[in-house]
Amino acid sequence: MARIFNFSAGPAILPEDVLREAQEELVDYKGAGMSIMEMSHRGKEYEAVHNEAIANLKRLMGLGDDHAVIFQTGGASAQFALVPMNLLGPGQTADYINAGSWGAKAVKEAKIIGAVNIAADTRKAAPARMPRQDELKLTPNAAYLHLTTNETIEGTQLKSLPQTDAPLVGDMSSDILSRPIDFSKFGLIYAGAQKNIGPAGVTLVAIRKDLVERSPETIPAIFRYKTHVAENSLYNTPPCFAIYLVLLVTRWIDAQGGLAALAQRNAEKAALLYATIDNSGGYYRGTAAVEDRSDMNVTFRLPSEELEEAFVKEAAKHGMKGLKGHRSVGGIRASIYNAFPRAGVEALVSFMRDFQARNG
Ligand SMILES: *Cc1c(COP(=O)(O)O)cnc(C)c1O
Repeated sequence: MARIFNFSAGPAILPEDVLREAQEELVDYKGAGMSIMEMSHRGKEYEAVHNEAIANLKRLMGLGDDHAVIFQTGGASAQFALVPMNLLGPGQTADYINAGSWGAKAVKEAKIIGAVNIAADTRKAAPARMPRQDELKLTPNAAYLHLTTNETIEGTQLKSLPQTDAPLVGDMSSDILSRPIDFSKFGLIYAGAQKNIGPAGVTLVAIRKDLVERSPETIPAIFRYKTHVAENSLYNTPPCFAIYLVLLVTRWIDAQGGLAALAQRNAEKAALLYATIDNSGGYYRGTAAVEDRSDMNVTFRLPSEELEEAFVKEAAKHGMKGLKGHRSVGGIRASIYNAFPRAGVEALVSFMRDFQARNG
């Protein structure tokens, strides 16, 4: 059975080793006589999976006792609402960096809950880019500063964290655990699992314990971070199978040499693609500012939409799928997350040269 090169933005490619391991254990989990999907979330087999997943995530992020890791559902989109519901009190203002499609969605939800200050807005910038520190208009005593570390649709990635006195809140859905960054600088990190760390259905949240205390009693218990931290994400039935897959991915990350090794490989993969774009004499045009280019989502255009359509179609025939850009921006997007192999990037680069030679 041949696996394709899956450039999908999300749900995205998972390590083949992880899929095979899950397949092996699917029907009978370690001699339990049932699948991990079928067993109580309060039994000892599942509990071990749950706690190892949390411990591995904390270790990989270098987080200590000041932070708790919890599992949520509803994707990053639920976090767009839950963050302000829990952290933005009456009379407070939250700062938001609006640098792309996902940041804008977070802003939209926060405005329903409370006062929002747009600290910087580069959403309409061409080429797409992240704001610089000196562009930020921060609110004194802001409830928090929200940012998106990787704008999946525009193909931009934050290279350094902004300076602020407010707690940093980061949507890391599309670059979580792809590089070592100072995770402890964040008050709250959230990430839907389906890009870098697992399947759809579970969302990772890492929260500093003092912020947990902000959860107001005026929102239902199920929506409070405080509830889930206190109950170790077992207040209600967690997405057990998705968490089990996240555990396998964290073990896979360790086997790859950890975040530093992955970051190096991710940067090399991205550099191959960007070099091909830059050396194409303008045939391929990157849509992100060079200094903000993402190592996860490589976005570019061809001379016409007709050529882009042909490019996507022909690439699929060569076993490279998921290259169509997001419907809101068009063009081509190659998503090359942690699990995406270098061989797939090499195949795309050689296809790009060949396509240009035939159509340039
Ligand atoms: C995919 C993505 C989202 C949306 O995630 P859902 O799980 O579909 O809610 C939010 N933010 C970023 C940065 C993303 O890449």
